[in-house]
Amino acid sequence: MARVALVTGGTRGIGEAISKALQGAGYEVAASYAGNDEAAAAFTSATGIKTYKWDVSDFDACAEGIGKVEADLGPIEILVNNAGITKDGMFHKMTKDQWYGVINTNLNSLFNMTRPVWEGMRARKFGRVICISSINGQKGQMGQVNYSASKAGDIGFVKALAQEGARTGITVNAICPGYIATEMVKAIAPAVVEKSILPQIPVGRLGEPEEIARTVVFLASDDAGYITGSTLSVNGGQYFA
Ligand code: NDP
Repeated sequence: MARVALVTGGTRGIGEAISKALQGAGYEVAASYAGNDEAAAAFTSATGIKTYKWDVSDFDACAEGIGKVEADLGPIEILVNNAGITKDGMFHKMTKDQWYGVINTNLNSLFNMTRPVWEGMRARKFGRVICISSINGQKGQMGQVNYSASKAGDIGFVKALAQEGARTGITVNAICPGYIATEMVKAIAPAVVEKSILPQIPVGRLGEPEEIARTVVFLASDDAGYITGSTLSVNGGQYFA
């Protein structure tokens, strides 16, 4: 029986690449999303992967959504906490909505999503929890105090929970992507990418979503069973944590 993997925000961007790579590696994949029904429908018709709509910042909605996925596909053995947002602004202008919006979606979602699957993973003595953090959670980024705090929080979550899961066969790891060529980054003017962003990246190019996806597939595999509590940087050498 194929293992079941759930990818939050698995219909677009990096999450879409993760969903497809896990499917390609033989997992039974479910992808969640927030509200872009059109993108989700296009994703399902291209991949055959079932999609589920709920807000990862809402604990009750997560428990209900996870219940639906498990009723359809079986117990979730691989959880990829990928859904994330930005609401950038300088701190002196940052509003309460910008702060709580980002913390709730990027950090509180890790509790909301992982808590409902954790006891099942413990009982079955196997699980993989993979959280997509960010280079900006490692180094901090001006104009992203909320985002950097949420993504640094992801790393603390992983380091603590890994210790709790270790004896029951559950690994918990973070991946910290650098600049990845998703719609968000492609929207930046090419001149800005050329002059300001690429010179910061020793490898000399943006990362591809598939490069994050392959890292997820590795961490999900039995081969990665001795890796837990780790933070894997996938950033073209831009920052060494
Ligand atoms: P995208 O904006 O391309 O996609 C985000 C996905 O998350 C969508 O499927 C979206 O659903 C979903 N989502 C957003 N908010 C919620 C929510 N509240 N509840 C449920 N689902 C939600 O993001 P990226 O692919 O660029 O980023 C993916 C992850 O990687 C994020 O955590 C991001 O912080 C991280 N990251 C990205 C980098 C980059 O360069 N792109 C660099 C470093 C980290 P819908 O389609 O319905 O909106």
